[in-house]
Amino acid sequence: MQNTPQKKLKNKTALITGAGQGIGRATAILFAAHGANVVACDINENALHTLHQECKCETHVLDVTNQQNIVKVEQSISKLDILFNCAGFVHNGSILNCEEDDWQFSMELNVTSIYRMVKAFLPKMLENGSGSIINMSSVASSIKGVANRFAYGTTKAAVIGITKSIAADYVKEGIRCNAICPGTVHTPSLEARLRETGNFERARAEFIARQPMGRMGNPGEIAEYALYLASDASAFTTGTTHIIDGGWTN
Ligand code: NAD
Repeated sequence: MQNTPQKKLKNKTALITGAGQGIGRATAILFAAHGANVVACDINENALHTLHQECKCETHVLDVTNQQNIVKVEQSISKLDILFNCAGFVHNGSILNCEEDDWQFSMELNVTSIYRMVKAFLPKMLENGSGSIINMSSVASSIKGVANRFAYGTTKAAVIGITKSIAADYVKEGIRCNAICPGTVHTPSLEARLRETGNFERARAEFIARQPMGRMGNPGEIAEYALYLASDASAFTTGTTHIIDGGWTN
């Protein structure tokens, strides 16, 4: 007799930002396969369209830096069990290459958006007496110093601060909040960054050379981690930073 895989998110509603491509998309597809009612959000309408075709999830064009967009989506859903703040942006460069605009944009997209999203959606979780919030950090600078990731690393360190604060404040009210810290993951934006170097093959080889496993991660591997943190399997886990980096920071 064949075993039916257990659906780990049955009857749960999960909102994912940055769900159009990369890790967010892989997570939306995995969560939907595990029975979740997925609310996929992104600024890229076309990507959401193809995602809907692939996993039939609910989609919303949502710019996480826009408070009005956030309120609109919050008002359109009745309950929320899982919030995965995945949208983010990598600024390349040291402090001397980071202009005020770069700094502001990185903070706005990688940090302030999480403050806004959690503030908007946490009350729905509190009404339920349970919820799992997952915030996308990175090993870059938050765990390990990485050259030319000044603004990025700073923002991802802040994501860990947000995560731990929320976890401490709401631990008695059934809310869990954890961060994922991936290493280098092969996603469309990473591919674009490799191309921007002007020498794709060399840049790719350099990324791989720093990986003890000799390869980058793939979005599905990070999605599995998010599934664990979203599901009741991680019921005893909150305020943590989950490193998944192929041994890069070991
Ligand atoms: P990606 O960069 O390829 O895609 C990001 C998605 O977010 C896109 O679909 C984009 O349209 C969407 N997005 C961008 N701005 C948005 C906004 N204002 N509002 C809503 N959506 C927006 O995805 P990725 O590489 O999988 O990265 C996802 C997250 O994982 C990011 O937070 C990133 O910093 C983090 N991360 C990635 C890696 C990696 O190596 N790829 C490593 C560590 C952490």
